[in-house]
Amino acid sequence: MIVEDEPDLARLVEFNLQQAGFATEVHGRCSDALSAAMERPPSLVLLDLMLPDGSGVDVCRALKNDPRTRSVPVMMVTARGEEVDRIVGFELGADDYVVKPFSVRELVLRVRAILRRASPERDDTDSSDASVTFGILRLDRRAYRVFVESREVVLTALEFRLLDTLLERKNRVQSRETLLEDVWGIRSSVETRTVDTHIKRLREKLGPAGAYVHTVRGVGYRFAESPEDLEV
Ligand code: CA
Repeated sequence: MIVEDEPDLARLVEFNLQQAGFATEVHGRCSDALSAAMERPPSLVLLDLMLPDGSGVDVCRALKNDPRTRSVPVMMVTARGEEVDRIVGFELGADDYVVKPFSVRELVLRVRAILRRASPERDDTDSSDASVTFGILRLDRRAYRVFVESREVVLTALEFRLLDTLLERKNRVQSRETLLEDVWGIRSSVETRTVDTHIKRLREKLGPAGAYVHTVRGVGYRFAESPEDLEV
């Protein structure tokens, strides 16, 4: 479901998603999008935030509060300057975002990644090279899946990116500002609290592997097997 009130952009996105094999529907208003989603929940919602009859943030909230649509992934489409809305969207459970102007190819790839993660069937053809193991944790970068002691942990796209970023830079301290910029795409020092909220959620979801995420007081976070594994 494409929720977008700019007809040209909606058509462009729709055309490209259809070319990629997806069935699409477009809504230009919050109210239409919500009633259609409740009636027939889509596989994914691409959600513009500035809509003529309200904010996409409210659509996201309504979707995540209704049992019929709670598990539908939401990908926010934001413009520059809508960073606060984007953060609220993530707090509400949005899965990912793109910033206008965006590459349509990139958008299709991200949609595909989210849907692949959301659907249980998998093609394991050559996932071995995309798989990274760290202690009891295993990340499948191709399928966007995470396992702790061979039990699958379901993460949002954003949580996956946060974990992958920390893992990629293991044993090195990452400041909240760096994470905010590299994971959320936000350049600001006032919204760093959102990093803490997501780290907390990620730790909880990872269970025993959550202990790999160490807090470095006054600085940020470090991914390591033990607090002593520090590279400077
Ligand atoms: Ca708009």
